[in-house]
Amino acid sequence: MYLYNSATHKKEEFQTHTPGHVEMYTCGPTVYHFAHIGNLRSYIMEDVLEKFLRYSGYDVNRVMNITDVGHLSSDADTGEDKMLKGARREHKTVMEIAKFYTDAFFADCEKLNIRKPDTVQPATGCIGEYIEIIQGLLDKGYAYVAGGNVYFDTSKLQRYYIFNDHDEEDLAVGVREGVEEDTNKRNKNDFVLWFTKSKFEDQALKWDSPWGVGYPGWHIECSGISLKYNGDYLDLHCGGVDNAFPHHTNEIAQSESFIGHPWCKQWFHVHHLNTNSGKMSKSKGEFLTVSLLEEKGYDPLSYRFFCLQSHYRKSLVFSWENLDNAQGAYQKLIKRVAALDPGDGTVDQAVLGEYREKFTQQVGNDLNTSMGVTLLYDALKAPASGATKLAILESFDQVLSLSLLEKAAAVREEQAKVKAAQAQAGYTVTGEGDPEIDALVKARGEAKKAKNFAEADRIRDELKAKGIEITDVPGGAVWKRV
Ligand code: AMP
Ligand code: ZN
Repeated sequence: MYLYNSATHKKEEFQTHTPGHVEMYTCGPTVYHFAHIGNLRSYIMEDVLEKFLRYSGYDVNRVMNITDVGHLSSDADTGEDKMLKGARREHKTVMEIAKFYTDAFFADCEKLNIRKPDTVQPATGCIGEYIEIIQGLLDKGYAYVAGGNVYFDTSKLQRYYIFNDHDEEDLAVGVREGVEEDTNKRNKNDFVLWFTKSKFEDQALKWDSPWGVGYPGWHIECSGISLKYNGDYLDLHCGGVDNAFPHHTNEIAQSESFIGHPWCKQWFHVHHLNTNSGKMSKSKGEFLTVSLLEEKGYDPLSYRFFCLQSHYRKSLVFSWENLDNAQGAYQKLIKRVAALDPGDGTVDQAVLGEYREKFTQQVGNDLNTSMGVTLLYDALKAPASGATKLAILESFDQVLSLSLLEKAAAVREEQAKVKAAQAQAGYTVTGEGDPEIDALVKARGEAKKAKNFAEADRIRDELKAKGIEITDVPGGAVWKRV
């Protein structure tokens, strides 16, 4: 596969340290609030990437952290711990908040058909590992203690900026964040590895360490967790584009200084979901969740379909109108799949292989998911048997995860039930598989039976206005769209 690598700014052939095996790491959510659908865009695209790699024959070990400590309200080590803020907002303990929002996150993932990573590790579970890395960095001269905290010394690196050629002045903490600069820092981009002193003395979770009782910085958790579960050679690191700086930049600084060799080759960054008023953000407190979409009558998989139609390296604008369009298209797609007859012919392995090959080629070109969706429609139009088409769709859905076959089977079942009920009522409606129209046609038949011709004509006119033509047949009616 070819994938754009943010570290080299180029599309490159994907390569792994061990042939056929991928060590993959994903920055997990900060669990002080519900994930918003922007966060979930990142997780959907990462899920497709993981599944595509498996589809292409790789064996994948995917690891994700859960940030339940250390992420301050500014990524530049200032402000309050986000978890503490969440706990205060809800009058709960930090651990209660973490448990509640971790469960909520995975419930949302399930609704969006996002596979749970092989390992999910809360940050609070690996304190010993962070301490070991921090001690190693101090021993090697990459870190220093100042004012009670341990800092990473970015001046010790030959190259600090990996993803962008930043203008250092622009990144001066005080300028960027509009906050006071930490005077303990020797260089403005130095960052905290271990806090014992911060402005917020009421930090709820603290641990003993060689530098005093305190808590880890945010960046060290991802280095610690990845080194523990992925080993010293990481093939693929994922996150939203806002994570590139400072978070991923700092992860690279710590990990490579500690292990003494290049760490991760391939960096995959998903661009943001925006609304017309800007980036969707958890900390702003106003955001859209999967539950809200459901309350408004949307199928969460319509949102997944919406995300798949655009490229992960372009920001995506969310609007209700766009989601309506996606939901309409998704429902139509399911109806088309439902109209395929599984008993029609047998699976033509050559055609299936040809489509699999096309899918691998096209989606494998920098995770072009919208081409994957286009290929679904191509397969529906293919001059092949129903069984072959269903096999192709089933194959693509291993990656796209739109539950196409399951939903189509449910539609078929519903249609069969309606037919059975009609047959029992002695009036059979045959049409194009729309329960609402079926019901109207049936109501007209019943009105006729009851000699209520005015009502029967009224329904016929209503259907006509919808572009439906009815033909009476013995024991029922047949309808079609004209
Ligand atoms: P957080 O829970 O804030 O740590 O973020 C979880 C993930 O969502 C990270 O990978 C972020 O980079 C990503 N993310 C945050 N905001 C957005 C957004 N508006 N669109 C897409 N991804 C986002
Ligand atoms: Zn991370």
